Amino acid sequence: MIQATPASTAPAAQPSKRTILVVDDVEINRDMLELQLQDEYNILKAADGLEALGILKERYGDISLMLLDLVMPNLTGEELLSRMQGDKLLSSVPVVVMTSEDSSEKESRCLELGASDFIRKPFDPFILRHRVRGLIRLHEADSALAAIERESLTGLYNREAFIHYARAFRKKHAGKQLAAVIATIVDFEYLAERFGEETVAEHLRQTGKMFLEVDDVAIAGYLGEGRFITLNLLMDGMSLDWMKATMRELLASSPIPSARVKFGIYSPVPQDRELAQVYRAINLKMQAIKQSYSEDYVVFGVDEEEHLERRRQLAADMEASLKNGDFYVVFQPKHRAADGALCGAEALVRWNHPRLGAVSPGEFIPLFEENGFINQLDVFVHTRVYRMMKKWLQEGVPVVPVSANFSRRDLLDSSYIDYLVDIRREFPNDVPAHLLRAEVTESLLTQDLELFLENLGKLRSVDYKIELDDFGSGYSNLATLADLPIDTLKLDMGLVRTLNTKEPVVRHCIELAHDLGLCVVAEGVETQEQLDKLRALGCDKIQGYYFSRPLPADEFITYLKDHAARGMIA
Ligand code: C2E
Ligand code: CA
Ligand code: CA
Repeated sequence: MIQATPASTAPAAQPSKRTILVVDDVEINRDMLELQLQDEYNILKAADGLEALGILKERYGDISLMLLDLVMPNLTGEELLSRMQGDKLLSSVPVVVMTSEDSSEKESRCLELGASDFIRKPFDPFILRHRVRGLIRLHEADSALAAIERESLTGLYNREAFIHYARAFRKKHAGKQLAAVIATIVDFEYLAERFGEETVAEHLRQTGKMFLEVDDVAIAGYLGEGRFITLNLLMDGMSLDWMKATMRELLASSPIPSARVKFGIYSPVPQDRELAQVYRAINLKMQAIKQSYSEDYVVFGVDEEEHLERRRQLAADMEASLKNGDFYVVFQPKHRAADGALCGAEALVRWNHPRLGAVSPGEFIPLFEENGFINQLDVFVHTRVYRMMKKWLQEGVPVVPVSANFSRRDLLDSSYIDYLVDIRREFPNDVPAHLLRAEVTESLLTQDLELFLENLGKLRSVDYKIELDDFGSGYSNLATLADLPIDTLKLDMGLVRTLNTKEPVVRHCIELAHDLGLCVVAEGVETQEQLDKLRALGCDKIQGYYFSRPLPADEFITYLKDHAARGMIA
């Protein structure tokens, strides 16, 4: 058996010379090929498939081309090809199959097994040389491209290449459902410090390898900093549980088994949506679980993404809208339960968005509470209410106390509260103190209780009456009620709606409030039946559509005047 010619003994092993592996069991054939090609190439030789496999495994990186005979002992050409096909690295070596007889069936089988081309014996030296040159050139152009497109450590696509191939992947699977995923290794920047650069590199390599192995159902990229990006075919059974299990499995064999990975999953990806937009949405969504110790997954779909997009728009437009006067204040009357006399109102903000039209406070208030804009908006509402009341008083309009809403943020912002207090001290007579009230939400009570209480105290020190809003929605603590510096309890609409089934609860709330010297307002009262029940239970005031919807300022003025004319102001 002839040993492979080591590169060192190959004639004129110039660095620029490419290396060709000749695999043939007939010695004379090997020598012939060597003779024909050695002026241009380094030649390695193997006498059967098994030997060739050994050489390939050691030197696949140096071998530019393999010339392969089919009929050989030990491992046939076809068997060798199929072994190579199962290996990402070996299959990167281009193969020209040498056939002796006319057997097109065999040839197409070889092409299927990954061979690049074939050539018939006996060779025309001229054709052989050209085919070899052409193939090597083609393959090298391919691998140069691959080097630019792939991140070196993981072997996965880099960002640009990923987006490019993801589009192609999508086209190839047109009509099928896809899921887009971003996976982020938690605290990646500290891993190197804790486990060492090499361990982290190995971790990345393994993760990359896992993604490469599933490349018929997914394509994957590496964005750097421990961030992976994939586009997957949405198969039956690929659920969140499946992903979690897969991840656990992967991490179990990883060099950093304790590493945590967070996932953002958009599923399914709408056919008409730009991929870049989809991944942007995932990134945004993942912000929410970034700091969380318990949540490692966000899964969402198009509905939520549209919701996100809308939130983005609202946030982008809010400041301009405030300047342009798109926000305005409406007033919802409050009536005395006993006789229906008008006894107050709540100021509620409205947004007439220039493009989207009326946007509900239920939508934008939580957004502004998150992004902090609620402070500015509440300053606007309070100032508006203050100015309008001052003007009405000057004009002789019969006014009633108006309450404005204080968001959680307002009450934790001491400088804002101090500002309100100062205004009240400076202009004691513009609007008498008893005419401006504050509604604060119960959900406040869960955090920063001390600061909250301190600021409430400040408001009360300048005679703000405090109404506790939304009582009975969610977290209600009757026990702490006694300790709160408040004047009024507002029963939540939800509680009013359950009057039929939970009358004893409502009764208990009202009794307790009265024992504590608090006034009780019921919100969201829509029917005569609700009104009658509340009245019977001793509820003091009623707010809701039964009496009136929130009214624009001019209609509210008319409402005030009408009630005054009928002697119906409390
Ligand atoms: P809220 O303070 O509990 O206000 C009562 C909400 O119930 C208002 O919704 C009002 O329009 C609605 N409502 C009143 N009566 C009825 C009724 O009989 N039936 C029904 N179905 N609904 C009724 P709106 O105006 O959409 O406000 C929603 C929430 O937004 C308010 O709940 C409040 O928490 C917040 N909000 C509104 N304006 C402001 C503001 O200027 N500043 C702050 N911080 N929050 C505000
Ligand atoms: Ca309120
Ligand atoms: Ca309320």
